[in-house]
Amino acid sequence: MTIEPVDFARIWLWNMKLQGRMCSQVTSFDSELSALVDRMFATMTIHEGIGLAAPQIGVFQRVAIVHLPRVFDKPQKVIVNPVIISGLGKSQLVEGCLSIPGDRVNGRVKRFNAVKFSYQDVTGETHVEEVGGLEARAVQHETDHLNGLFFTDHMSMFKRKIILQNHDRAIRQKVGEDLRSYYVTKEEQEAMNGACVGS
Ligand code: ZN
Repeated sequence: MTIEPVDFARIWLWNMKLQGRMCSQVTSFDSELSALVDRMFATMTIHEGIGLAAPQIGVFQRVAIVHLPRVFDKPQKVIVNPVIISGLGKSQLVEGCLSIPGDRVNGRVKRFNAVKFSYQDVTGETHVEEVGGLEARAVQHETDHLNGLFFTDHMSMFKRKIILQNHDRAIRQKVGEDLRSYYVTKEEQEAMNGACVGS
């Protein structure tokens, strides 16, 4: 049996339309969800990310993935309908986001060191887990995405503005075709007029 490679999706660049957009609860644990998850892993892998949320590829459902292979020998994790139940301790660490590429677009974010959270896997089974370190940070970052929040929302207005300006500058300097191979630009998102694509 040959396994067909899964196509990656283009990542939606940050813009005001993504900001604050709530994703809907997943109720069908079907082949469509599995296909979405496969596409998310393919997308995260080519960008060498450690996490990705469905809205980052234009699918506004509560689905995220986390994978930290280079840090710990952690297996891939699909987190559907995640809910952070409680958190322990707080610290600051530098974060970035696949939807905000560029130079000097990272910044320190204060988050829980460890979290207890519930989620469903791709089959719909519910899990309650406690995770710490970078995994806890990734879970918080991806859960934020499902509520339309970016890591920049945890910063001062001043720092947020600098990061988004640096990001804008990087995007303007990119060659159009190269950019459009991997990202859905703000202009394209405007042209979609709010339509949900990517699924
Ligand atoms: Zn992100």
